[in-house]
Amino acid sequence: MHGLSQLGRAARVILVGAPGVGKGTQTARLMKRFPQLSSLSSGDLLRENVRQQTPLGILAESKMKAGVLVPDAMMLRLILNEATKRGWAEREPRMPYTLSCTTSNLSTSSMEDMTAPPTFSQYTYSDNPNSSFILDGFPRTVSQASQIDNLIPINLVVYLNTPVNAIMERIMNRWVHAPSGRVYNMTFNPPKVPGKDDATGEALTRRDDDDPEVWKSRLRQFERTSLPLLDHYSKKGVLWTVNGNSSDEISPQLIKEFEKRFGMGQSS
Ligand code: AMP
Repeated sequence: MHGLSQLGRAARVILVGAPGVGKGTQTARLMKRFPQLSSLSSGDLLRENVRQQTPLGILAESKMKAGVLVPDAMMLRLILNEATKRGWAEREPRMPYTLSCTTSNLSTSSMEDMTAPPTFSQYTYSDNPNSSFILDGFPRTVSQASQIDNLIPINLVVYLNTPVNAIMERIMNRWVHAPSGRVYNMTFNPPKVPGKDDATGEALTRRDDDDPEVWKSRLRQFERTSLPLLDHYSKKGVLWTVNGNSSDEISPQLIKEFEKRFGMGQSS
């Protein structure tokens, strides 16, 4: 029914929701609908730095392996570096504007002290609709949120609220064909032969993340860290909650809210 939509003002958004709620699905759908949006995942960015063995990647690797959070100053440096690279923010005072110049100052491969917090006063953010983004995984704590708010203020925090039972049921019913990434749901989209991939006949497995015990422990961690984050953004007046049992119930509401807040005609 709808094609593409233009943004009238910059959207700086984070999606918050329990593990398995479908943040990735919603991000992909929003980006399809609003091509000016891009997304940035702190976990992906960290993994890329680990892969390239940058100084920051080397420091972050042990934390990630231990399943603990990477220190705030490092995270902030990483996110700001990427935001600068992508033109969402600029480092001041302005240097002659070349890509290598703006990015090299905060380069994750330079010899700077990666554990030192960046100098906040040196940044300005862009309000151009083309600098719109959805962050995934950052900020994770109230302290990270307060720090990023002083630099590149988030103007919408979406809480994807799906009953825990509905997520659990979806996870329990989900089987994948690991080599191809094909996903089956035993209720809505079962394979032709139980336990076998339709195309190859190979065995289906569960994702590691979908182990119910692993999921429950991630849910507890989510509740510990994200609920204070929601409270923080609620006080700032940028929290919006969307309720739904499935991604398909949530998407139309989310797109409508984006149109209302950021669509053309909302530029004033
Ligand atoms: P994720 O892919 O988002 O689950 O992140 C994987 C790992 O990266 C986490 O377990 C943390 O060690 C680290 N990480 C990702 N985002 C953050 C963040 N905002 N703050 C601290 N550590 C993070």
